[in-house]
Amino acid sequence: MQTRLSPQCPLRLLPSSLLTPALSMAITLVLSMAACHIAGAAEFRAGAAVGDITPTKWPVFLVGSFGERPAEKAWDPLSARALVLDDGTTKLAIVVVDSCLIPRVLFDEAKAIASKATGIRRDRMLMAATHTHSAPASLDVPAAKASDDYLEVLIDGIVEAIKQANSNLEPAKIGWGQVDVPEHVHNRRWHMKPGGIIANPFGETTDQVRMNPPSSLIDRPAGPVDPQVSIVSIRSKAGAPIALLANYSLHYVGGVPPAGVSADYFGEFAKQIKQQIAPKGDRGRPPFVGIMSNGTSGDVNNINFRNREPGKKPFEQSRYVARSLADQVVQVAQRIEHREEISLAMAQRELLLNHRVPTVEQLARARRFLVETDDSTLPRLAKAYAGRTIEVANMPPSEKIILQAIRIGDQGIVSIPCEVFAEIGLAIKAGSPLKATFTMELANGWNRYLPTPRQHRLGGYETWLGTSILELNASDKIEHSLLDLLREVAPNGTK
Ligand SMILES: [Zn+2]
Repeated sequence: MQTRLSPQCPLRLLPSSLLTPALSMAITLVLSMAACHIAGAAEFRAGAAVGDITPTKWPVFLVGSFGERPAEKAWDPLSARALVLDDGTTKLAIVVVDSCLIPRVLFDEAKAIASKATGIRRDRMLMAATHTHSAPASLDVPAAKASDDYLEVLIDGIVEAIKQANSNLEPAKIGWGQVDVPEHVHNRRWHMKPGGIIANPFGETTDQVRMNPPSSLIDRPAGPVDPQVSIVSIRSKAGAPIALLANYSLHYVGGVPPAGVSADYFGEFAKQIKQQIAPKGDRGRPPFVGIMSNGTSGDVNNINFRNREPGKKPFEQSRYVARSLADQVVQVAQRIEHREEISLAMAQRELLLNHRVPTVEQLARARRFLVETDDSTLPRLAKAYAGRTIEVANMPPSEKIILQAIRIGDQGIVSIPCEVFAEIGLAIKAGSPLKATFTMELANGWNRYLPTPRQHRLGGYETWLGTSILELNASDKIEHSLLDLLREVAPNGTK
């Protein structure tokens, strides 16, 4: 085990020529009795920083809808927000990026460059997209091509954030807590009253649930929501705010005019929490960094289906949600006990999962739909999903995905590279050996929606072939592996 002396340790003040082995041992014994930071109890350090990933060349094409959306400006900046934590034994980085989704190949590239620059191991980096639907494409999709110029901005910004956070490392203390904020999350999949189910893009009426349905025909939601906001708060040893990492299971808010990029409520939360926690500015210190990460929100959005509100002005709802969350998070953060003596652990595993395989009938239908010249004879989105069916057929049979577990004291964080259903996050929270755990979705890659086998049987948008590409029991395997990883990072007998 590595022995580290804290900057305050008096052993540092002695010239090395005076330190004979015997004298050194005697001093060490005395100092360890005096609670100097020795042998595995190295000083906890933290640093945070923001990298700018706002496009510099226009137009860019936004991802996250079926139609083409060119954008000519930024309504607000896009950022990569990084946190580097080091307990002397484990050094890790967490980066939350204002993007709708980022494929594994880009995250891998950013990790390789950042690792070379900082020495932080690639498998000690968790990188996740927020899922703002107003960000430039980071991979080619039918409605948006990724530009090489933007990919460079994106990778540079992520790397810069980690490098700066690493050089901002300072002795620190950390604490964690939670608060339930149920009012902004609604399950968007609904069982419908008779007449409420319409043909899906494959021409079938076998779906038992419908995403974002008209309120007049809704019966009951098809799944739960996770109302919890998880909070990790970090301060300098002297008490100055360094960063606050929050996690909430809300897909995004929206209400952004289509002509520009925006970080949605995630960026607004970061701004609001900074105004509340560091109201007097940064006073010559590294800037405080607020971070809102996405939890398990694949089937959860901000629409109150039982009581829909009339249309709002652009950004009004995202600012309202961000403000409400920031207010409640600050109240908890003020009561959190921040500790200097904490340990970190992180484990990563690659899990091999099969891709779904279209049947002969599904492929034949897709080809038929694609050559149909009269679109009015086809179901809604038929050609888009015919294209996706062919795309899935051309995928390799299986793929390795990255799963991670982090432990900060007795707070756990796991990562999944999909848009994850809320019930999966809730099951991980319940099964975790740690006192509190949360999940970051869209992390280290993008493998589309992750419904449970039960939700696959119910059908609906998130389960359609192409929207979902992983084998139908992928969520069971992922949950099982993550609980294994949590047991790996948990000290014996936790919880
Ligand atoms: Zn989405």
